[in-house]
Amino acid sequence: EVQHMEASENCSVKVAVHVRPLIADERLHGCKECVTVTPGKPQAQIGTHSFTFDHVYGSSGSPSSSMFEECVAPLVDGLFQGYNATVLAYGQTGSGKTYTMGTSFKDGCHTGLIPQVMNALFNKIEILKHQTEFQLHVSFIEILKEEVRDLLDSVSISKLETSNGHAGKVSVAGRQPIQIRETSNGVITLTGSSEVAVSTLQEMAACLEQGSLSRATGSTNMNNQSSRSHAIFTITLEQMHKLHSVFPGNDTSDEDMGEEYFCAKLHLVDLAGSERAKRTGSDGLRFKEGIHINKGLLALGNVISALGDEKKRKEGVHVPYRDSKLTRLLQDSLGGNSKTVMIACISPADINAEESLNTLKYANRAR
Ligand code: ADP
Ligand code: MG
Repeated sequence: EVQHMEASENCSVKVAVHVRPLIADERLHGCKECVTVTPGKPQAQIGTHSFTFDHVYGSSGSPSSSMFEECVAPLVDGLFQGYNATVLAYGQTGSGKTYTMGTSFKDGCHTGLIPQVMNALFNKIEILKHQTEFQLHVSFIEILKEEVRDLLDSVSISKLETSNGHAGKVSVAGRQPIQIRETSNGVITLTGSSEVAVSTLQEMAACLEQGSLSRATGSTNMNNQSSRSHAIFTITLEQMHKLHSVFPGNDTSDEDMGEEYFCAKLHLVDLAGSERAKRTGSDGLRFKEGIHINKGLLALGNVISALGDEKKRKEGVHVPYRDSKLTRLLQDSLGGNSKTVMIACISPADINAEESLNTLKYANRAR
């Protein structure tokens, strides 16, 4: 009963911390590092506050090159067994979320998690393609102020393909609202957004690149918008596995014994900057909504906290998926049989100590 075991082991959310190095700007301002990592332990400390996570990477923790293998590769493997999964990058603006995910092709394009997911996925397909039929789809959307925007809008894709030089002038007029729906068997779907069929690594990489460009150029106030929006790159893997007769001595070994069908998706989420999601309330357990606080991050914190609490889960406590577009969209890929990894990104600089501490507290609730 491997599947059963895996399912029950993976109900909770895995949490990793990624401490980026000091960047030039921080050095220029004379910043000092204020995050300590306990050698040989997945423990991060800021001041007197100490937290233990599943993994800690960077700034004297494990090298971040092992992050993909340890945190994300198991989710890619799970896709082939039909398990949905979600990877979330959380942290204040400038903490390294986009760099860690590889959502932007500007930097980290070869080291980010999404490009590594793509590589692993196509390597696995290459090995299995003789016995299994695969179909891959990609979608790339952005949630800004509780509205879903398609980053693979056909208009922008064709424009980008035909006139590279004018990529910045893509028109955004005429978009219809995208809606999140739930089928009778609990599958979450998006209506009105692009689902691009891809069959090669290059095609998938092109989607990532085009969507990243669209995210950056589709708004007038780029920094503000991209720090306030959640970018969700979703890979859907469908597989049709033919079951063959295994009777020894049976020459007509191609005899069809039926088919096995799996469909699973992997969401790779570059979350909005966490600097507006402050923890409030004396119980310290629930995020409360206030002016400018990102609805998705609040709801996500509450969903993940409810999922992480084994006792609550067994009591069948209400998981508040419906509180935001983000959690609604991820509903069938957070909790249940699905695997979730949150990567809390922090700057090591002393000027960011308070935000980094907030991030570690948020991530800590997920465990
Ligand atoms: P965010 O998406 O959280 O706002 P970014 O990913 O854009 O943050 O990172 C902010 C800056 O820090 C960028 O200039 C980026 O290149 C740099 N950076 C982030 N993570 C790393 C890292 N692990 N190593 C080196 N530079 C990094
Ligand atoms: Mg970013």
